Amino acid sequence: MVQSAVLGFPRMGANRELKKATEAYWGGKLSQAELLNEAKRLRLAHWKIQKDAGVDVIPSNDFALYDQVLCHIQDFGAVPERYTKDGLDAVDQYFAMGRGHQKEGVDVPSLEMVKWFDSNYHYVKPTLQDNQTFKLVDSPKAVVEFKEAKDAGIHTRPVLVGPVSFLHLGKADRGQSVDPIDLLDKLLPVYEKLLVQLKEAGADTVQIDEPVLVFDLPAKSKGAFKPTYERFARLGDKIPKLVFTTYFGDIVHNLDVLPKDVYGVHIDLVRNPEQLDAVLSALGPKTVLSAGVVDGRNIWKTNMKSAIEKVESAIQKLGKDRVVVATSSSLLHTPHTLASEKKLDAEIADWFSFACEKAVEIAVIAKAVTEGPTSVREQLEANAKSMQSRATSTRTNDPTVKERQSKVTEQDHNRKSEFATRISSQQKKLNLPLFPTTTIGSFPQTKEIRAQRTKLTKGEISTAEYDQFIEQEIQENVKIQEELGLDVFVHGEPERNDMVQYFGERLDGYAFTTHAWVQSYGSRCVRPPIIVGDISRPAPMTVKESKYAVSVSKKPMKGMLTGPVTCLRWSFPRDDVHQSVQAQQLALALRDEVVDLEKAGIDVIQVDEPALREGLPLRSGKERDAYLDWAVKAFKLSTSGVEDSTQIHSHFCYSEFQDFFHAIAALDADVLSIENSKSDAKLLRVFVDSAYPRHIGPGVYDIHSPRVPSEQEIKDRIEEMLQYLKPEQLWIDPDCGLKTRQWKETKEALTNMVNAARFYRAKY
Ligand code: GLN
Ligand code: ZN
Repeated sequence: MVQSAVLGFPRMGANRELKKATEAYWGGKLSQAELLNEAKRLRLAHWKIQKDAGVDVIPSNDFALYDQVLCHIQDFGAVPERYTKDGLDAVDQYFAMGRGHQKEGVDVPSLEMVKWFDSNYHYVKPTLQDNQTFKLVDSPKAVVEFKEAKDAGIHTRPVLVGPVSFLHLGKADRGQSVDPIDLLDKLLPVYEKLLVQLKEAGADTVQIDEPVLVFDLPAKSKGAFKPTYERFARLGDKIPKLVFTTYFGDIVHNLDVLPKDVYGVHIDLVRNPEQLDAVLSALGPKTVLSAGVVDGRNIWKTNMKSAIEKVESAIQKLGKDRVVVATSSSLLHTPHTLASEKKLDAEIADWFSFACEKAVEIAVIAKAVTEGPTSVREQLEANAKSMQSRATSTRTNDPTVKERQSKVTEQDHNRKSEFATRISSQQKKLNLPLFPTTTIGSFPQTKEIRAQRTKLTKGEISTAEYDQFIEQEIQENVKIQEELGLDVFVHGEPERNDMVQYFGERLDGYAFTTHAWVQSYGSRCVRPPIIVGDISRPAPMTVKESKYAVSVSKKPMKGMLTGPVTCLRWSFPRDDVHQSVQAQQLALALRDEVVDLEKAGIDVIQVDEPALREGLPLRSGKERDAYLDWAVKAFKLSTSGVEDSTQIHSHFCYSEFQDFFHAIAALDADVLSIENSKSDAKLLRVFVDSAYPRHIGPGVYDIHSPRVPSEQEIKDRIEEMLQYLKPEQLWIDPDCGLKTRQWKETKEALTNMVNAARFYRAKY
C-alpha cells in the first residue's frame, strides 16, 4: 500500500489564532498558560484535520510558537549566554531570541533572522560560540508533542531539522570565529539522545530535514553527511527509522553523499521532477522514496494526472511498498483552507488548493496508486475538469498586455543619463544635507488604522470617510517627521494593508483572498495575492496619497512602490507561464505608475525590491544568471521612464550581496537602502571593492524588535560604515519599514537616529 505523508502543516490556525495569542501574550493580555493552551489546541486541531483528510503520515514537532529552528536552538542548549543570564523563563527566553526583550531591566536584542531558503519564511539563525557545548533539555519539544498527539489518539511522525542543516544554517556569534560545521561531533550526541527518547515514546519514524543538500555545499558540510548518518545507522533499532528529507531543489549534484542506509529519502518532485531517475538509482537497496508531488509552496490545485504519473514511475522501479506520496515540502508556506474564502469568484476558486485541501489531495493520490484510478474516479474527473477550465479561461489571457510586451525595447531599460549627471540635477532640486536621513516607507500601522480599514471593508464607513481618515494620518505622519527633523519624508503607507497585496488589489490579472495568510516570521503573516492572468494597471495606484503628502509637506516626499520582482515573489505566481513574463508585465504596470508619480510632483521615488535575493536560484550557474538577467531588467524597465532629476531609490532587507553584487549594481538606482544593523559592516566592503559610485543607506538599527537603540549605538554603527563608505555617499535610515512597530519606540529610535546623523554632519 502506498502511504500518504504531509511534511508539515501551517501553524497559525484558520483565523490566525496563534498570531493573536502570541501578540496578546507579548502585550500582557494573555497569561503564559493561556498561550500554551491555545498552542496545544491548535496542534490538536491541525492533526485532526490531516487525520480526517485520510493522511497516513501526520507530522508532529512541525509546530513552533515563533520558529522551528529557534525551537531546536533552545532544546539543544545552544542559547547564547546573553539570553540565559537574566533568569527569564523558557518561553520568554525563547521569544527574547526571536524578537528581543526590553522589559523590567532586561535589554537584549534578538538573534539574526534570515530567509528560509528561497521562501518568504524567516528562521532564526543558530548563533554559536567557539567553545559551544550542547545539551538536550529535559523535556524536548519533539518528545512532548509526539506524546501529546499520541494521547489524543493520533500517531505522528516527528519532524527534526537534521544536524548538518542545523549547523550549516547557523553562524558564529559576533566576535567568535567557529565554523559551525566543526561542532558536529559535539552536537551529534544530542541528536542521538533525542532520537532514542522519541523511540521510547513510541515514534517509529522521524522526518529528518536536511534541505541544505540542495545547495552547492562547501566540502566540509558535504562531508558531514556520511559520518552523521552512518553514526545514526549504528544505533539500529534504538532509534526510529529516519526519512531523510530534502526540498526546494534537486539533490543530483550531491547524490554521492545521500545516505544509503536510511529508511526513506524525500525529494521535491514539484520543483525538480527531472531528478527522479537519478535519485532512484542512488537509493539504498531497501530505501523508501517519499515523492513530493503536491506543491507545498503554491496554491494551485494539483494536476492529479501528472502527479499520479510521477508516482507510478517511481512505483515501477521500487514497488508499492517503497513509495510514499507526499507534499513537496512542509505546507507551512500555503494558507490554511480554501473553505474560508467566501468572496472568491467560483471559476477561480476551483483552481486553488490550500493546506487543508492539499492534505486531501495527498490522500486521494495515494489511494489512486494503491487501489487504481477507479477507486477515486469522481475526484480525478473533477480535477481534470478544473485543469481544463483554467487552461482555457479568458481570464488568464489578455492580448493587449502581450502586444505591449512584444514592443519593449532595450532602450526602455535605461535612464536618460549616467549617475553623475543625474545626481547633480537631483541635488539641485532636493538640496539635501550630508548624511541625509529618511525612513524606508511605512510608519506604525496602528489599531486605529486597522479598525478604519475593517470598517471600510464592512461598509460601515464610506470611501470618502476612509480617504479623509488616510489624509489625516498622512498629515500627522508629516508633522511627526518635521518634529523629528528627518530630511526626506514618506507618507507612511497608512492606506496599505501590505506592500504587495495593496498593489495586487489594484492590478488586473490578480485575485485576492480574505483569509489566505501565510507565516512570514514570528507572529507576522502575509496574505499574498494570487497572479491568475496577464497583468495590467487599469488606473494609478498610489498617486492620490503621494500627491496629498507632497501638498502638506515642506520637505522632499518619497513616493513608495513595490518593485516587479517583489510583487511577483510575494504573490503566489502563476505556474503556467514563466516568471520572467509575469515580472515584465508587472514592470510595465509599475513604469506607468512611476511616470505618473513624477508628473504629480514627486521628486523621489522608492521602488522596493526586498524579494530580489530570495528569488535567486539556490545554486550558482546558468539558472541563477538567467534569473538575475530578467529580474534586473524588470526593475530597470519599471524605473527608467523618469527624468534625470527624479531620484530613484530602492530598498533591500539584507546586505549579503557578495554572490550577486553585479546585479545590485546593475539596477542603477540612485540610492539604495539596505539592512545592515544586524549584519557585519564588513559586508559593505563589496561597495568599496567595486568602487560603487551611487548612494547607500545601510540600516543603522533593527526594526524587527521593539527595542530602542541608543544614540551611541547608532553612532557606533555609522562609524563602522564610514570605514567603507564615503560621507557623501551615506544616507542614514533604519533597516526597514516601521509598520510593525509602535509609535512610542519609533519616535524614540528615530530621534536617536537623527541626532546621530547630526553629530556626523557637524563633524564632516
Ligand atoms: N516600503 C516598505 C515599508 O516601509 C518596505 C518594506 C520591506 O522592505 N519589506 O514597509
Ligand atoms: Zn525592508
